[in-house]
Amino acid sequence: MFNNPKKKPPLKAKGIEDMPHTKAGLEYKVWHEAKPKTNKWRNIRWIVLISINVLFVVSYLLGLSILEGSLSGSRALGFYLMDTYNSLQVMLISIFDGHFWALTMNFWIGFFTILILYTIGGRTYCSWVCPYHFLAELGEKLHNYLVKKKKIKEHTYNIYLHFVFWVGFLLIALFTKNIVFEDINPIGIISRSLIYGPSLSLLWIFVLLLFEITYSKRFWCRYACPVGATWAITGKAALVDIQFDLDKCAYCRDCQDVCLVPHELWFVEKGKATQEIHYTGSDCTRCGLCVDICSGDALKFKIKGVDKIL
Ligand code: SF4
Ligand code: SF4
Repeated sequence: MFNNPKKKPPLKAKGIEDMPHTKAGLEYKVWHEAKPKTNKWRNIRWIVLISINVLFVVSYLLGLSILEGSLSGSRALGFYLMDTYNSLQVMLISIFDGHFWALTMNFWIGFFTILILYTIGGRTYCSWVCPYHFLAELGEKLHNYLVKKKKIKEHTYNIYLHFVFWVGFLLIALFTKNIVFEDINPIGIISRSLIYGPSLSLLWIFVLLLFEITYSKRFWCRYACPVGATWAITGKAALVDIQFDLDKCAYCRDCQDVCLVPHELWFVEKGKATQEIHYTGSDCTRCGLCVDICSGDALKFKIKGVDKIL
């Protein structure tokens, strides 16, 4: 966590003799296309994401206390869960209102439960739970198609824009004494619409998706969403990571092409790796798309410390 591999001197780039296809005795093209494209991790992730969101709906419709509320604040089997960024806004308002000590025990249980979960899992929430991520992932396919056909151009921004929004919405909450962010938060809007029925706020989701499809790929998740930025901060201590093995890499960069945050895969670029084994950083959503696509199986899920226990 504190040993930054980016600051180390890079290892010498591998020559053709050290490439995985050469070692396998295959032409690069044959090797590159040999692995069947199963989308294994994407499919598992979509099943989990859809199941969680459906469970909210079913619990509400059948009056069950399995998963009550919405993704902004809920109870799982009676146990309170509070979105961390929303909780931070509530805390900030209550400090300046003088009501901080009146925050309930259930609020703190909900806050710390989610905080601990996502500190362990990192930004997993984004790709394994968030319903907007699911829609945006589908929108990305259309965006990529339009870019490929040269109908639109890609527009990228500085990744640190995320933290401008993060601080900005906290300040807005402080000055308005209101959780204004929740009015435009796609996660809450979609979650509530699924559970309680559609609302006019869905128009905002439509506008956002249209902007991402026609102008800037995955803008909200990449540069704006303060919920994702929160997990990127707490995820610095995450135990779940994607592990990279330089020996198995052919520098093809397919993984960066499918990644929401390609800067987290900086070490796959030729001559950039500073050690034989690297791990993705806290912005990685652990979506598994890079694991699925890598022809050399150079990337895999890793739970830190588990191999030492087993
Ligand atoms: S890790 Fe990335 S660059 Fe390396 S072989 Fe796999 S997909 Fe290609
Ligand atoms: S590094 Fe891999 S797991 Fe992480 S966000 Fe990118 S594609 Fe997903």
